[in-house]
Amino acid sequence: MSNLELAPAETDCPPDAATGTRSDLLDGRDVPLGRHTVVRRLLPHTNRRTVGAWCFFDHFGPENIADTPGMQVPPHPHCGLQTVTWLLSGEVLHRDSLGTLATITPGQLNLMTAGFGIAHSEESPPEHMPVMHGLQLWIALPESVTEARFEHHAALPELTYGGVSMTVVIGTFDGTSSPARVHTPLVGVQITAQGSASLPVQPSWEYAAILIDGSATVAGQALTPGSLLYLGTSRSSLEISGDGRLFLIGGEPFEEELVMWWNFVARSHEQIVEARSAWMARERFGEVHGYAGDRLPAPELPTVRLKPRSRHGRPMPPS
Ligand code: MN
Repeated sequence: MSNLELAPAETDCPPDAATGTRSDLLDGRDVPLGRHTVVRRLLPHTNRRTVGAWCFFDHFGPENIADTPGMQVPPHPHCGLQTVTWLLSGEVLHRDSLGTLATITPGQLNLMTAGFGIAHSEESPPEHMPVMHGLQLWIALPESVTEARFEHHAALPELTYGGVSMTVVIGTFDGTSSPARVHTPLVGVQITAQGSASLPVQPSWEYAAILIDGSATVAGQALTPGSLLYLGTSRSSLEISGDGRLFLIGGEPFEEELVMWWNFVARSHEQIVEARSAWMARERFGEVHGYAGDRLPAPELPTVRLKPRSRHGRPMPPS
């Protein structure tokens, strides 16, 4: 997945409200993804920049692509983040500059760790299922993680609590960990509710949830597809009920200041400029082979200087 906005704005958020237990329903916004697809972007949001190290959350579909090419995202670069791809329906063919060629189907995790730099393309195969439905999320990496990797996981742990079952897609939930490699304390789980349960969560972590389909109530708040319920910190349990599927993300609040622009996560304006120049010069990110089409050019940089932001949205004070 790529941020295909023609003029990606610097993510400039007002200060978050005080930390603690929250129940903020944040509306996503529709963003075009190439010529054929529209996604709902839930993070970053005007009022919420990150949840743990999760810094980007797109929900695409369900969409009938029987008579269209479906997802067609040409080769583009990433740095400073991991991409998490999780499908509910359909399939996506991933190619990257490490030489990976991997098709993901529902119930499997594709995790790409960009480190200092990687490039990839994502496409619906020529012969594809009629319905495409899925999620793509990005996780901000600590600055020390520079190695690029690709992982595909078809077997993931399952947990059940009362009328709620879940797949631990990535990270750790209640002591059970996904085999996927992460670099900060976090979690991403798909939840299927057919009744109710009280889920054990970590008071020092912040959490947020979306409804994928059906209906569900989380911490007393009814969810609708297309919005993100930010739950804040300081909870030891989370009440969930309903008849539907959800995705819950969480993690230790990510305190490193970040500059996010286009498909890059970095720490300074200069690092973003350098990453953009390297991509345009065909350096650093490698080549994606086999995609039928051109690579994506980087958009123009904004005329203003990109400022590092803390998770609270403000520029960090000089230290
Ligand atoms: Mn991408």
